[in-house]
Amino acid sequence: MAWLRKNDEPKNVRTEGLWIKCDACGATIWKKDLEAAGMVCEKCGFHFKITARERLKLLFDDAHWEEFGWNLRSTNALQFVDRKPYDERLEEAKAKTGLNDAVLCAEGKLAGRDVIICAMEYRFIGGSMGAVVGEKLTRAAELAKQRAAPLVIISASGGARMMEGMISLVQMAKVSAALKRLDRAKIPYISVLTDPTTGGVTASFAMLGDLNIAEPEALIGFAGPRVIEQTIRQKLPKGFQRSEFLVKHGMLDAVAPRGQMKAYIAHALAFFCDAAA
Ligand SMILES: [Zn+2]
Repeated sequence: MAWLRKNDEPKNVRTEGLWIKCDACGATIWKKDLEAAGMVCEKCGFHFKITARERLKLLFDDAHWEEFGWNLRSTNALQFVDRKPYDERLEEAKAKTGLNDAVLCAEGKLAGRDVIICAMEYRFIGGSMGAVVGEKLTRAAELAKQRAAPLVIISASGGARMMEGMISLVQMAKVSAALKRLDRAKIPYISVLTDPTTGGVTASFAMLGDLNIAEPEALIGFAGPRVIEQTIRQKLPKGFQRSEFLVKHGMLDAVAPRGQMKAYIAHALAFFCDAAA
């Protein structure tokens, strides 16, 4: 009986989704306010994960960009199956994110300057890097070189995509080689590391920027802490593998809060590009 079921629903059902509880401090925040603040908690500064599209919106002038490489799709060359077939995982991720793979690449303007920006999508199989991510980032670096426009890559990734085995691992070398060519052409590349950036992504392009900057408190590393502790037989210090710790120990250049990221990048690009002109 549909009318009975309706009465059984909790009274506050309409307000659900309007408020969000902060993962860090537990404060209840009005969702609209949180979105207006770029999904950063106004009480404690905690940075919520955001989508690749939201990333681009925060960086491109007037939230306007031209996407490229969107039609590239994985072919599941290894016919990989773990708990479920890789094809099925891909279809689920596509439906969830509206993207064909784990990175969104686009060209547009940032503070009036032509730029290429690529943002990884963590919701797409953990932002993992397979052949498509590697190919799109390589094309992005090649386009940046062709246009003589700076490149910005925003990472959010668990690393290589195990369902593509060796094919995913060679993407590290492939993207790195494309970035080397960009470097030879003296075109700046800024790497932005967000929570989390680990594995093969950290071990390749995320650490190859002319500037490597991170959002506050982001988890950044290669192997996880448990593996490291077992290997070196030592307890790791507090905050190990977080942005602030890594800046202090020379692994990163700076930490920039999300609200200041665009201004930070614009300032850095003015320094790189205009000083050279
Ligand atoms: Zn908070």
